[in-house]
Amino acid sequence: MSQSFGFQFDNSYSRLPEALFSPCDPQAVSTPAMVLFNTALATELGLDAPTLAQRPDCFSGNHQLPGSMPLAQAYAGHQFGRLTMLGDGRAILLGEQIAPDGRRLDIQLKGAGRTPFSRGGDGRAALGPMLREYVISEAMHALGIPTTRSLAVVSSGEPVYREQPLPGAVLTRVAASHLRVGTFQYAAAQQDSALMDTLIRYTLERHYPEKQDSDNPALALLDAVIDKQIALVTHWMRVGFIHGVLNTDNVTLSGETIDYGPCAFMDQYDENTVFSSIDQQGRYAYGSQPGITQWNLGRFAETLLTRMDDDVDSAVEIATERLKAFSARYDASWLAMMRSKLGLTGSDAGDETLAKDLLALMQLHKADFTNTFRSLIGGKPLQGQPYDNDAFTAWHNRWLNRLDRDPQAHDHAWELMRNSNPAVIPRNHQVEKALRAAEDGDLSVVESLLFALADPYAERDSDDPYVQPPKEDEVVCAT
Ligand code: AMP
Ligand code: MG
Ligand code: MG
Repeated sequence: MSQSFGFQFDNSYSRLPEALFSPCDPQAVSTPAMVLFNTALATELGLDAPTLAQRPDCFSGNHQLPGSMPLAQAYAGHQFGRLTMLGDGRAILLGEQIAPDGRRLDIQLKGAGRTPFSRGGDGRAALGPMLREYVISEAMHALGIPTTRSLAVVSSGEPVYREQPLPGAVLTRVAASHLRVGTFQYAAAQQDSALMDTLIRYTLERHYPEKQDSDNPALALLDAVIDKQIALVTHWMRVGFIHGVLNTDNVTLSGETIDYGPCAFMDQYDENTVFSSIDQQGRYAYGSQPGITQWNLGRFAETLLTRMDDDVDSAVEIATERLKAFSARYDASWLAMMRSKLGLTGSDAGDETLAKDLLALMQLHKADFTNTFRSLIGGKPLQGQPYDNDAFTAWHNRWLNRLDRDPQAHDHAWELMRNSNPAVIPRNHQVEKALRAAEDGDLSVVESLLFALADPYAERDSDDPYVQPPKEDEVVCAT
């Protein structure tokens, strides 16, 4: 164990055709220091957590991990609608860890130096954004939402230059894989059908092994990815998560949330909420996420057309049918999710209107998304602002009536609601406060935030700071 630290790499990606990656070593940093280390995740991965917690050099590129085969992946992406050739410009895949339970997980360093895909970039990352990814990805995991994980954040001891010099850092990301829609867009651009077939086979084997022997592997893959993405975007809508940059290079084929840039959780309910200042048009606003996911899946389908059918017209017909079906399937998934948030089990013709009417009232009265649903548990009338008005009272009575007609007892409803509606989300003002303290060398704030986020559905006192919405002067603006 001491030599290998528990790493058991098997690097299947490095055995794919070299068109899909470039071998590339991370660049050592001057003084790596451990900022956050995820002991629970390390243990789950079969790693020697106590030793590695003291070895920042293993997570900065300074010490090459035994069995790793570092490489930068090639991919393309529609960025705000425009197709661009990209690739890992500041991320390096070390290899795939085979966990004790048999799972194969990518271990990737983010911010580990320049690669052949860096273009004008420095290949580096700043401490604040890497801590942000750690906090939000681990919060997502605790919320029960598929996501990449964060194993460590190591500060580099070197400045990175953005608008101003910032402390540099390297994040170790753990993922089911880094295969994304953009990987297929890149492969399709090579116009090499053998390469596409290899990639399809590889993706099925890695993520959908039960579909490997399908008559039409390309179509089986499209169907599987559509299913996963519907489930994923439904989760995001459930907890008020706004990804912020849903470019096709940020859409995984595993169905995990990836790339925590200008993402955030909504406080007041407003479906037009955008946090990213570069998203001027609201392309990636909260309420636009299902539609943009469908659009991204359309770009994925395009890469598969020639592999789905020799006759392109009939391939287009099949793919179009699948993409059209997305809307009704997403709507059904959303309604099932909203029923669980409202504690409903059976189905009633009025359920969709009931749910949408509540959201409309929340939007009108600027109600807090998280706390409104959590306050409904127990069925007592909602009190105080913004609920003290006839419209909310009338809605509440309708909902109670519907609950009375539900096949399940009220206690079942409250339990369902407790498990569907988090009490604690990583609220922007709390995250920013924690990151600023960490940048000033005080990690206690981020550590207590992580502790609260690890158990998001537990009962909380109403004066608990982590359930408070931001005060007016605490609201964080778009970044
Ligand atoms: P993202 O917006 O994080 O999805 O990144 C889009 C593309 O820009 C990817 O190809 C990244 O690898 C690349 N990129 C982002 N930041 C840097 C950087 N500091 N240096 C080099 N490439 C970068
Ligand atoms: Mg990205
Ligand atoms: Mg990013």
